[in-house]
Amino acid sequence: MNRRDFFGASAAMGLGLTTAASTSFATQTTEEMDKRAEAKLRISSQLGPAPGNSLEEKLEKMKKYGCDAVEYHGDCVGKGKEMRKKAEDAGLEVSVICWGSHNGDLCSDDVSKRQPGIDDLKKALETAGELGAYGVIYVPAFNGQTKLNNYEIRQRLMEFMPDVAKFANECGTSVILEPLCRMEAFFLRQVADGASISRDVLRAAKIDDGIGVMGDFYHMDTEETSQMGAFISAGSLLKHVHLAGGVENPRRTYPGENSMTFVDGFRGLKYIGYNKFCSFECGCAGEDKEKAFAQSIQFLRDQWAEA
Ligand code: MG
Repeated sequence: MNRRDFFGASAAMGLGLTTAASTSFATQTTEEMDKRAEAKLRISSQLGPAPGNSLEEKLEKMKKYGCDAVEYHGDCVGKGKEMRKKAEDAGLEVSVICWGSHNGDLCSDDVSKRQPGIDDLKKALETAGELGAYGVIYVPAFNGQTKLNNYEIRQRLMEFMPDVAKFANECGTSVILEPLCRMEAFFLRQVADGASISRDVLRAAKIDDGIGVMGDFYHMDTEETSQMGAFISAGSLLKHVHLAGGVENPRRTYPGENSMTFVDGFRGLKYIGYNKFCSFECGCAGEDKEKAFAQSIQFLRDQWAEA
């Protein structure tokens, strides 16, 4: 196929060679694009990075040091009411469920694995609705989990994701695509790419919510040339943020434990009026985890103020 044939075939197949419409910034005035007045730093944490030994103790300490929400893992699926009550008893909301890739089954080259994966993602979305969470973090495939190539995985997502996003919207929540660094995934590495997939899914499903993207500062440190630019490219499609230091040692630890600055990224979050959650997903380099957690939260608030 020569270049001219390729473009002809692509147009015939409706592969998105049209101008962006509803989500384009081009329809907004400069004043409308600047949403800094709506922005707010609301901190969440997964259970692993939080100090404390039991679930109850972790939730209590998260509240004590200024978190507004908890991020649960996939083991909360089917226990929505119970886990929501535990969070509420500690004075916390539930930000999202960190679900993962389901071994890459939904985008597997083995067709028999796909539907069970979709069914389980829908169960997670039901629980997210019960939890009052913004969404379920979904990774299409980690390296080694599918033989499909980049182009084929995106096509595959467009086959099943419009229906799943509609379902998520009916549950009052969203699928949240997580871009990862190249050491972990060859498909979906940049925030703008996840936003573009989300836009295509929303168009295909004819809905205005039910899927979005997130940014993880650790992965972004490898893949993005500008954290601010990455967040702005997602705009209203940004549903969640993971907090972690970057690749420099100590690698992927509490923000503030290595030299990575969050000011550039926070400027982007402020500009798009981001007020959903920023959630700890990282290790701790300090010997006193509780003290280090409190220091990291203060570091983040200082960086937010500087941004
Ligand atoms: Mg992450």
